[in-house]
Amino acid sequence: MPDTPSDQLNLPTLRQKISGRILTAGEDDYDRARTVWNGTIDRHPAAIVRCQQTEDVRKAVKVAREHDLPLSVKCGGHMTTGHAICDGLVLDLSLMNDVQIDENTRTARVQGGATWDQVDREALKFDLLPPGIPHPVGVGGFTLGGGMGVVGRKHGLAVDALREAEVVTANGHIVTASEEENSDLFWALRGGGGNFGIVTSFTFDLFDEPRACLTGNLLYSFDDAADVFEYFRSTVPETPDALYPIASIITVPEIPGIPEKHVGKPAVNFYVMSVGDPEKLREPMEEFCSFGEPFLRLIDAVDYTDLFVPFEVPKGERHHWASVYLNDLPDNLIDLLATKSTPLPTPTTGISVYACGGAMGRVSSDATAFAHREASYLAHITTQWSSPAEDDAHQEWTRRLHQKIAKFGTGGEYINNQTDDDAERVRAAFGDNYDRLSQVKATWDPDNFFRMNQNISPAG
Ligand SMILES: Cc1cc2nc3c(=O)[nH]c(=O)nc-3n(C[C@H](O)[C@H](O)[C@H](O)COP(=O)(O)OP(=O)(O)OC[C@H]3O[C@@H](n4cnc5c(N)ncnc54)[C@H](O)[C@@H]3O)c2cc1C
Repeated sequence: MPDTPSDQLNLPTLRQKISGRILTAGEDDYDRARTVWNGTIDRHPAAIVRCQQTEDVRKAVKVAREHDLPLSVKCGGHMTTGHAICDGLVLDLSLMNDVQIDENTRTARVQGGATWDQVDREALKFDLLPPGIPHPVGVGGFTLGGGMGVVGRKHGLAVDALREAEVVTANGHIVTASEEENSDLFWALRGGGGNFGIVTSFTFDLFDEPRACLTGNLLYSFDDAADVFEYFRSTVPETPDALYPIASIITVPEIPGIPEKHVGKPAVNFYVMSVGDPEKLREPMEEFCSFGEPFLRLIDAVDYTDLFVPFEVPKGERHHWASVYLNDLPDNLIDLLATKSTPLPTPTTGISVYACGGAMGRVSSDATAFAHREASYLAHITTQWSSPAEDDAHQEWTRRLHQKIAKFGTGGEYINNQTDDDAERVRAAFGDNYDRLSQVKATWDPDNFFRMNQNISPAG
């Protein structure tokens, strides 16, 4: 009996069946293809299939099933869990990145391996904004987890803009999922992660919004942290949906315009993105950014594609993420953030509180699989470091802080922002929708073939 995924794999058969390149250890590009954004993930798949078309995906699913091989799906490779890579067969969808814009219906048909920057390039030619983020994060993982994009507060989550998906199912069939066809599958894809099939194309609504986006970027001394978070709490509920404010505890980087005495010290950063006419939004933006005495205050219109420049990270860095949905920012939580969250373990670690609500909050929590519509905020810990020797310490720091913040939370977490995925955490992430998801899983994947994900057990 074969005992490893490599032994189980019949490579000549696989190569015969699939048009895309198949990479195994030692071949050019194998290491690049097995690398994901989170440097702590170092897995060696038996083979990586560089799928070129839906038919490759379908055949690879059949081969994996015949040979009883674990299978994972890699789109942008950005999920910090590293679920994209398993030790069996990895389906690398990155060559399936075609984006077709229909200007008349204002929709984009996006292949399942595309990244959002690739969608931006095409959509912006027609002066339309997609429901993602201007960053090479995969459309696949981002959307299937819910997708809080730049337009989220004004127009809704990526799943709210999803009209249709083409899916390769666990039994190797190709089906369409939409409100009209296979509506149970369509419901589950919109927040249920990679549990239900491999999406080979997504059709999204696009938004007629200008590419110039007004942003506010403020830095406050950490001594004022409690006041700053109290202001954030009192102001966010009154803030127009067109503004997307984030308050973060960061370490001040060395950049021009920042007084040297602050560099390397903790601070509170307001980063406020917006969607809409910059001139019309200037007044509410000025108002939001009017609090206290920040030592940096920049209000500028930047191109949509530059909105995520502040979040650029060098390749190979190591990450551990955790998140908590919050209905409120109670005094005790503000006290925790202001007095017990620092020192941050590394200069590139951050603790952010995202304003939710707006359009994404106006959809009912059971309308799609994404359950956390009622939350007002999402707290997100992003711990980042370079040395493997520090893995345990930084992962532990993140878990301890997460536990403390979670005491104030709704019990829910965001699957796209969570690195730990034990069964209890996964259940919490799917919230009240877990049981229905489990029923849909039993219909579409009763053997739990798609299990390299935040896994939902099939009911029954
Ligand atoms: C720098 C950075 C910024 C981010 N900013 C945001 C943000 O603003 N808002 C937000 O909501 N999230 C954000 N995220 C989180 C992001 O949504 C998740 O990391 C997401 O999983 C990334 O998708 P991916 O396709 O790159 O992931 P991958 O690692 O390629 O895939 C993750 C999992 O998704 C599933 N999957 C992916 N593609 C498919 C497919 N086509 N069919 C079926 N299953 C599939 C598989 O289960 C796979 O294991 C950010 C992440 C990073 C690293």
